[in-house]
Amino acid sequence: MEPSDPYTTALAIRQTHLPARRDSAYLVAGDGAVLPDRCVKCNAPGHHRQVYKFTWHKPWLFALAFANPIVYILIAPFLREKLFLELSLCQAHRSKRLRGWIILSLGVVLGPILLILGIREENALVVVGVLVFLVGLVVGLKYSSLIAPDLIQSGAGRFVGCGSEFLETLGNTDSTELRSET
Ligand SMILES: [Zn+2]
Repeated sequence: MEPSDPYTTALAIRQTHLPARRDSAYLVAGDGAVLPDRCVKCNAPGHHRQVYKFTWHKPWLFALAFANPIVYILIAPFLREKLFLELSLCQAHRSKRLRGWIILSLGVVLGPILLILGIREENALVVVGVLVFLVGLVVGLKYSSLIAPDLIQSGAGRFVGCGSEFLETLGNTDSTELRSET
């Protein structure tokens, strides 16, 4: 029978059984790591559990994104490192994340529409459109944020965004080796 979820399939193939560890405010984990069934944000019992795919590339590539977006779009996929983690969220943080996605979607769709209408009608909708876009982007990203890699290389990643209570349940490690290679 064909597995339906490509992430779960990838996890099964890449499973390294490397346990997740804490390095001060960071989570350090190998590709395919399975995190404890507690919310990564607040350490409440897990309610929604899923395999997530994370991607990362060297920060200098963002400069290229500003300088030449077309070249960035073409080459970035080849320079990205990726890593899969299975983790949990509680009901409250799952709901907050969904609200964030709705706010983000509304902002990036409605904002430009209002802006274009405002330009055509030459009225204050221009300002409203810009505000709706910016607020949707900032608030939406803040609410929908999960955890984010600040480094992925050689099949291991270091992440920001986990709650301190969750991190305290993990064993300590030192990701100096990861850091020294950047
Ligand atoms: Zn939570």
